[in-house]
Amino acid sequence: QAGPLNKRVAIYAGALDNENTQRLTLMTDLRRAIDCEELLLLYQPKLKVVSGRVCGAEALIRWIHPEHGLVNPDRFIKLAENAGLITRVTYWVLNAALRESYAWHNSGEAVPIAVNLSSHDLRDPNLLGHIQESLTTWGAQPTWIQFELTESCLMEDLPVAQKVLQQLHDLGFKLFIDDFGTGYSSLSYLRRLPVDYIKIDQSFVTNMESDEDSAVIVRSTIDLAHNLGLEVVAEGVESRSIMDLLAGWGCEEAQGYCISKPIPGNDFQEWKSSFLW
Ligand code: C2E
Ligand code: CA
Ligand code: CA
Ligand code: CA
Repeated sequence: QAGPLNKRVAIYAGALDNENTQRLTLMTDLRRAIDCEELLLLYQPKLKVVSGRVCGAEALIRWIHPEHGLVNPDRFIKLAENAGLITRVTYWVLNAALRESYAWHNSGEAVPIAVNLSSHDLRDPNLLGHIQESLTTWGAQPTWIQFELTESCLMEDLPVAQKVLQQLHDLGFKLFIDDFGTGYSSLSYLRRLPVDYIKIDQSFVTNMESDEDSAVIVRSTIDLAHNLGLEVVAEGVESRSIMDLLAGWGCEEAQGYCISKPIPGNDFQEWKSSFLW
């Protein structure tokens, strides 16, 4: 009676395409990666549009896989979420970002580091406690770290998001709504969340000059944010001319390849001191 079952397993295994098999292996590997120092944070600078001053850095995770080499987060963050591993990844990121910030504080003028949170993190009952413990470990202040949450992650469970964001805000963390404009959400929810900044999604910013609709969206998002008392970061700024347009529209901060690609933490202070806009 083992025959048909084996056959089915064989057929099923055969039906797994290369991509699926790779995904399964990656998932197993990720458990190990978290403990084995295969993860790495890069830091992408954020700039004040008017003054050209460096005002922050976003922590962006990379996985240096022993066989596959560099794996980008687009390939493994969703996987980590589905495998129930994202909490551990987030804790790892938070600690690594605080370690970096600690080093920056000891070597001169430090800028805040923004950490990306996933919707799963908002449902983690230990998140707040863990964040506070990590701050204590590094002798850090809430001003050292900022949190970015995507619009869609907030919409997944608005009451929970509201509660956790309020707690983070009360502790003194600055909060950013990430990928703004991609979440199909009503704008009224914004007023119910204690956020400080909107990050306009790079898909609109990058195309601003070639696509009239994108330009209109960017411009009206800036106005909307200002009317709600929020500040604006444009991400995916790839050219100086886009930067000039943003400045004219009153956008406060910018992030993108024309300022710098994400770089290792060790290089950040040196990059910052030699950077001239
Ligand atoms: P994101 O939070 O929207 O981050 C911005 C992404 O745009 C980054 O990709 C960054 O390298 C890229 N980027 C920056 N400037 C430019 C530009 O001028 N042009 C273009 N075309 N792209 C630019 P990256 O590092 O591959 O990260 C992809 C996504 O993975 C992030 O999107 C974020 O959603 C997620 N992610 C990254 N690190 C973490 C993390 O530590 N935790 C969580 N939960 N998610 C993370
Ligand atoms: Ca982000
Ligand atoms: Ca984003
Ligand atoms: Ca994105």
